[in-house]
Amino acid sequence: MAQIIDGKKASAKLLSQVAGDVIEFKAKHGITPGLAVVLVGDDPASQVYVRNKVQRAEQVGIRSIEHRLDANVSQAELNALVDELNANPDVHGILVQLPLPGHLDEDRIVDAIAPSKDVDGFHSLNVAALATGKPGLVPCTPQGSMTMLSETLGDLTGLHAVVIGRSNIVGKPMAALLLQANCTVTMVHSRTRDIASVCRQADILVAAVGVPKLVKADWVKPGATVIDVGINVEIIDGARKLFGDVDFASVSEVAGAITPVPGGVGPMTIANLLANTLQAAESQMPV
Ligand code: NAD
Repeated sequence: MAQIIDGKKASAKLLSQVAGDVIEFKAKHGITPGLAVVLVGDDPASQVYVRNKVQRAEQVGIRSIEHRLDANVSQAELNALVDELNANPDVHGILVQLPLPGHLDEDRIVDAIAPSKDVDGFHSLNVAALATGKPGLVPCTPQGSMTMLSETLGDLTGLHAVVIGRSNIVGKPMAALLLQANCTVTMVHSRTRDIASVCRQADILVAAVGVPKLVKADWVKPGATVIDVGINVEIIDGARKLFGDVDFASVSEVAGAITPVPGGVGPMTIANLLANTLQAAESQMPV
């Protein structure tokens, strides 16, 4: 039976570190770090994510400012809000909850955020910084996954990591971070031929797909470390249940270590968002 990588425990550790650093920041600079969270429309999952982010921010001493906009808001109105937040010295981090309604251009909005306030790490300049190994704000989910990997495995040098999924927000930045950690990295996706046999070569298998229980036991090398990023909601007997992209019951019989869903990558994502907010605030202070 695999070791369960406890994301709640790892995130509690990081949150308490951030809370301590926020106290120091306030003492040093006499101001409170501020995170602006922008939610457009009333997507139920986005509402839950935003509520959790705002609550956790308050818990570590970061002031959060929530902006809720109507689903019909125009591109110009949303851009104007982002410009206002960019110019506001009390706001150190800006997060626009994705996905946005279809009539809005997500890329344009993300690139309108000042790179120094882009706590999601999705701005083109932060993406370029990650790709070229320069300092910048790194996307929260891959960053949290890396922390859990290094806490579980120590040095990752030379390990073969396979990432399933090539999205800009998880798969690609995850691959970049694994490469920086000296892994041999393979990316697989919906067009990959014989995905199971590629995955079976992995010492580290990261699933970021959005297909419940896609990864089966025979995709996993015995003893491998499995990071399940997927969050898939299913209604079973009227109750809302969360499933990852990994078939936990069978894969945990084969893997050496595995993150559960819920209680794995999810909590680490929020903790890293707040760590990024503090990093952003530090970078905006006069030297
Ligand atoms: P996405 O839809 O943008 O990308 C999914 C990727 O999976 C694509 O690159 C696609 O090629 C690949 N894919 C799709 N079907 C496939 C298949 N059958 N076989 C192999 N590859 C396939 O999704 P995303 O934004 O990267 O999110 C992935 C999952 O992670 C979702 O379940 C999402 O909810 C979850 N997520 C969780 C967190 C967290 O905090 N834990 C954060 C972000 C995303």
